Amino acid sequence: MIVIFLGPPGAGKGTQAKRLVTEKRWPQLSTGDMLRSSIKANEPLGQKAKSFMDKGELVPDDVIIALIEKRTTHADCKDGFILDGFPRTIPQAVALEKMLESRKLGVDRVLQFDVSDTELVNRLSGRRTCSKCGEVFHLSFSPPKIAAVCDRCGGALLQRDDDKAEVIQKRLSVYHKQTSPLVEYYINKKNLIKLNAAQNPENVWALIAASVAKV
Ligand code: AMP
Repeated sequence: MIVIFLGPPGAGKGTQAKRLVTEKRWPQLSTGDMLRSSIKANEPLGQKAKSFMDKGELVPDDVIIALIEKRTTHADCKDGFILDGFPRTIPQAVALEKMLESRKLGVDRVLQFDVSDTELVNRLSGRRTCSKCGEVFHLSFSPPKIAAVCDRCGGALLQRDDDKAEVIQKRLSVYHKQTSPLVEYYINKKNLIKLNAAQNPENVWALIAASVAKV
């Protein structure tokens, strides 16, 4: 089962993907998370990606495609995986299709997370992430019990550099220009399901569970 979570930053893809991982045991392949851990580990890949990420721009396609090609060969991907934040451009989608075809596989579902820009700005600007375990909080919608401290592991909660106001606008415009053409691309492939992701997370989850069950 290969599922793509397609949507703008802040649409709730990561949160919902984590829930799907718990239910189905397919790994969540978040290219954003992979790049951030590579930056943390001070690897050449992370160093290359950081300058793009800090500006809210996309990391070059060849770098990202190589990352996904390698990661999907790991044993935990054998029964399926969830692509969270990949593909983000048409060339990435084409490369994914070719890669899967060569392994006699294909994309089973593309779930499009639909949310207005105004709502996304609210969500992203209040988002805080645990520097230790990656748990995500929101200053208004899901605040931690103690300010700036993770409820789960006690780690410090930080704002991602790219969740700062000036970078948020750039990321949204990059989404509209470079990623939203994928909606049309997957409509044509007839495997896209559009979800109203502005609803509360429980309702969004119910839609996801239903669309995945149908495959
Ligand atoms: P995310 O955590 O998914 O919002 O990704 C954070 C940043 O990582 C993005 O703004 C991009 O700079 C980079 N990134 C993540 N996934 C991709 C991708 N598929 N293609 C290009 N850049 C990506």
